[in-house]
Amino acid sequence: MAKIAINIATGSLQKEEIIVGIDLGTTNSLIAIIHPETKQPVALKEHNSASLVPSVIYFDEAGNVTVGEEARDHLITSPHQTIFSAKRLMGKSYQDLKNHASFFTYKIIDDNSESLVKVQVADKFYSPVDLSSFILKELKHRAEHILKTPVNKAVITVPAYFNDAQRQATRDAGKLAGLDVLRIINEPTAASLAYGIGLDKSEESIIAVYDLGGGTFDISILRITGGIFEVLSTNGDTYLGGDDFDNAIVKHWAAEAGISDEDLQANKSLAQALRLEAEAAKKYLSDNDVFETVLHGDPLVLSKKTFEELIATFVNTSISCCRKALKDASLEPKDIGTVVMVGGSTRVPLVKKSVSEFFGRTVNDSVNPDEVVALGAAIQADILAGNNRDLLLLDITALSLGIETAGGLMDVLIPRNAKIPSRASRQYTTQVDGQPGMRISVYQGERDLVKDNRKLAEFNLSNIPGMPAGMPKVEIGFLINADGILTVTARELRSGIEQSIEVKPQYGLTDAEVEQMLLESITHAKDDIAMRAITEARTEAEQLLKTTERFLQKNATLLTQEELLQTAASMQALQLSITMNDKDLIHKKIEELNDISRPYAERVMDEAISKAMSGKKI
Ligand code: AMP
Repeated sequence: MAKIAINIATGSLQKEEIIVGIDLGTTNSLIAIIHPETKQPVALKEHNSASLVPSVIYFDEAGNVTVGEEARDHLITSPHQTIFSAKRLMGKSYQDLKNHASFFTYKIIDDNSESLVKVQVADKFYSPVDLSSFILKELKHRAEHILKTPVNKAVITVPAYFNDAQRQATRDAGKLAGLDVLRIINEPTAASLAYGIGLDKSEESIIAVYDLGGGTFDISILRITGGIFEVLSTNGDTYLGGDDFDNAIVKHWAAEAGISDEDLQANKSLAQALRLEAEAAKKYLSDNDVFETVLHGDPLVLSKKTFEELIATFVNTSISCCRKALKDASLEPKDIGTVVMVGGSTRVPLVKKSVSEFFGRTVNDSVNPDEVVALGAAIQADILAGNNRDLLLLDITALSLGIETAGGLMDVLIPRNAKIPSRASRQYTTQVDGQPGMRISVYQGERDLVKDNRKLAEFNLSNIPGMPAGMPKVEIGFLINADGILTVTARELRSGIEQSIEVKPQYGLTDAEVEQMLLESITHAKDDIAMRAITEARTEAEQLLKTTERFLQKNATLLTQEELLQTAASMQALQLSITMNDKDLIHKKIEELNDISRPYAERVMDEAISKAMSGKKI
């Protein structure tokens, strides 16, 4: 299996074909390659412009998409049409995000369910995958413009704590942007590679990667043995970063000038002007002691000392996270061999000093902290292109492995190019009340619909005890051992019943067939993703119709006549939309039905709770 996988990554490539490394960031994204002459990683940029592309997407009235600097300019003027931080939405449901709902200025659909979030701009609905694909498309486009050659293959980085679903979403976004995503790698792994750490196969070390960006903070502890990076622990704060430093400065200046929070809220242009000056001050103070300027005729001053006092609590929070990460890995600061700095905010001297004091060693900060992740991704891309023979010894899967889910969709558990041995698991549930069994169909391939992939095996998990739909927890586990044999296990966690099967994924497949399957997945990417979106929307709609019906059967007497009529009409409209080929329409109808049912669902729930509580002492 290993040999075939590597041939796909290398043999089928023309020599000149470029594989790019992409850092798909929360605030900024960028693309890097190995320079064909110097053989060194470089970030791509147009003359006189920055390598960073703001991860911001603007939709104009006509629905046209703009990404990058120009889109960022619309953040203040058109907050409902300008999407930032799309990465925070990847693989998340509204439930996951609701505590931070005020952070987002655009409309995130609150469908009160566990399903994945969507963003609404005017009458269109976008998934986080769609949004990320716009950013990736822009990066691909810029790279092609600079390199004057098509760019079709990429390595994309994700945070070490990203789960399976978030990694798959990132892969899908790449595919939708017309990129063959050869590998998803962890950002801290990429940063280490950029420092040359882990390239020597005999090397064994434990490293800490401290990543403080504009809006997020991550600390990852990795162990490297034989060229393999293992994440020992991660910690961080998804709402901590350079933006907090800027805000602290704005508050400080406002307080000095006697401007209240309310005044600042009301005067958006003053707030924005102060924020820009604050960021300029912060950056200036990374290399100087005092910042001075004049804004609207008034002087603005900030000393390094005051700045450090303002941000001390944020820096301390990040150090507490480092302490927790070490504890989770059962390590002490002295066990860490190397500390790598990532993210623009690690340029702040107090940050560097605090981190190096905590770990008791000097930190690695010689590579540009904005570019270090993309540069490392470019190094990984070069390894996959076969330019670094040593590291090609890793065994990898040639095609993705997954199971069939609702609507005939392929749900990938082990993506192609995953290291062997490899293990993955995911939980599923039943769709019908009292469902006694579940059919597990195992497929191989890159297409979104299982009918276009290759079926490897099928088996039944039977004797599931009678439970309402959604209650059973069926965990499907995939394990590929070092010989490339796949064992699929299905276990119902509440009852413990279990069933498993063994398959040889590569059996009967030639290199040419594998290659053909890969090529087809790229050719059909657009149609596939559109088909997936509509199938998912239909499944969600059917599910909602079922739950609403069940709710009505139980609680119809508690609803007013008007509520019943509205619900019936809305259900009918949703039913009709399912028959049409328009995912936005289905989402709109889902949203409408949710809006109608939410008030009475909450009311019925409250009544049930107060009934249950009545007569009980708290
Ligand atoms: P990133 O998300 O990694 O692109 O980091 C962006 C953050 O780094 C923003 O908050 C920037 O203001 C901050 N940053 C960039 N350059 C500097 C600098 N020279 N000193 C301090 N902060 C900086």
